[in-house]
Amino acid sequence: MAEVLVYVDHVDGAVRKPTLELLTLARRIGDPVAVHLGPGADEAAKTLGEYGAVKVLAAEAGEFADYLVVPKVDALQAAYDVVSPSAVLVPSSAEGKEIAARLAVRIGSGIITDAVDLEEGDEGPVATQSVFAAAFTTKSRVSKGTPVVTVKPNSTSPEAAPAAGAVEQLQVSFGEAATGTRIVSRTPRESTGRPELTEAAIVVSGGRGVNGAENFHIIEELADSLGAAVGASRAAVDAGWYPHSNQVGQTGKTVSPQLYVATGISGAIQHRAGMQTSKTIVAINKDAEAPIFDLVDYGIVGDLFEVVPKLTEEVKTR
Ligand code: FAD
Repeated sequence: MAEVLVYVDHVDGAVRKPTLELLTLARRIGDPVAVHLGPGADEAAKTLGEYGAVKVLAAEAGEFADYLVVPKVDALQAAYDVVSPSAVLVPSSAEGKEIAARLAVRIGSGIITDAVDLEEGDEGPVATQSVFAAAFTTKSRVSKGTPVVTVKPNSTSPEAAPAAGAVEQLQVSFGEAATGTRIVSRTPRESTGRPELTEAAIVVSGGRGVNGAENFHIIEELADSLGAAVGASRAAVDAGWYPHSNQVGQTGKTVSPQLYVATGISGAIQHRAGMQTSKTIVAINKDAEAPIFDLVDYGIVGDLFEVVPKLTEEVKTR
C-alpha cells in the first residue's frame, strides 16, 4: 500500500488530537508515516503507533524551536524525499497551512486547504471542503503532483488501529533560508483551563443576547460543565464582552466541533461561516423566527437566562 506522510502537531511529544484525526483519515488512502520534529519522539511514537502510524520519522534540532516554519519545511521535504508518499497530510492550523503551502511549492504539487473529509477516489484522494461561507460543499482532488492536504480539526473522530510506529531518524540539512527569521520571544497565553477553541469537541458560544460581559459567566459555566471551549459572535466581541480570540465566524475562527451550542446568536451568514460544519448544532434563542433555527439539529425557544443555568445544572447531575 502507498505511504501517506502525516505531519505531527505536538507539544514536547504530547501528540495533539488533530494529528490522531489525520492518522485516521490517512489510513483510508494508505499507510500513515508520521513526521515528528522536535523533542519527545519516543513518547509520541507510542501514541502515533496506536493510531496507525507504520513508522515515525523523527528529527530533533534547535532550529525547529528557534526559527519560524522554514526548518520544519526542510524536514518535511526530507521526509518526502525518503518516502515518496502518495499524499501529504498536515493539520489546518495557521502554521500547518504555511508549512503545507511551502512544501507544495517546493515539490511542484497542488494543495487543498481546510479539508473536512478525505476519501480514496479513482484518480487519487478526494477532499471535501466547505466553501463560500459554508454555502457549498465541494469535492476536489489534486491533479498535479503529490496531493498536499491540510485538514481542519474535528473533521473526524480519531480511531485507534495499532501499527508498528517504530522511530527512524530523519537526516535533515537546513537550507540558508531556514535561519532567516529567528524567534525573539514567546509569551504563553494565560490559560483558561478550557480546550483550544478550534480543537474543542464541544463549543458553547454567546452572542448579543447575552447582553453584557458581566453575564458571560452563564455561558462559561455551561461550557465548563460540558468540558467545552467558549466562543462568541462578533456582536459580543465588538461590544467588548469577550476577546476577539474567541470570535467564531468569517472574521474570527472556524470551528467544527462534535457539538456547537449557540446562545443568543441570530445566525447571520458571517457567523454560520465559522460553525456550519459542526456535527450537531443546538441553538437557544428567544425568537422562534431567528435564522439560526434553519440550521440547527435541536432548537430551544426561550430566554437564555432561564434555559442556560437549568441546562448547566442538569449536565452537572449527569
Ligand atoms: P444579533 O444578530 O443581534 O442576534 C442576537 C440574538 O439573540 C437574536 O436572535 C435575539 O433573538 C437573541 N436574544 C436576545 N436576547 C435573548 C435572550 N435573553 N435569550 C435568548 N436569545 C436572546 N459575525 C460573527 O459572529 N462572526 C464573524 O466572524 C463575523 N464577521 C463579519 C464580517 C463581515 C464583513 C460582516 C459585515 C459582518 C460580520 N459578522 C460576523 C457580523 C454578523 O453579520 C452579525 O452582525 C453578528 O453575527 C450578529 O451577532 P449576534 O447573532 O450575536 O447578534
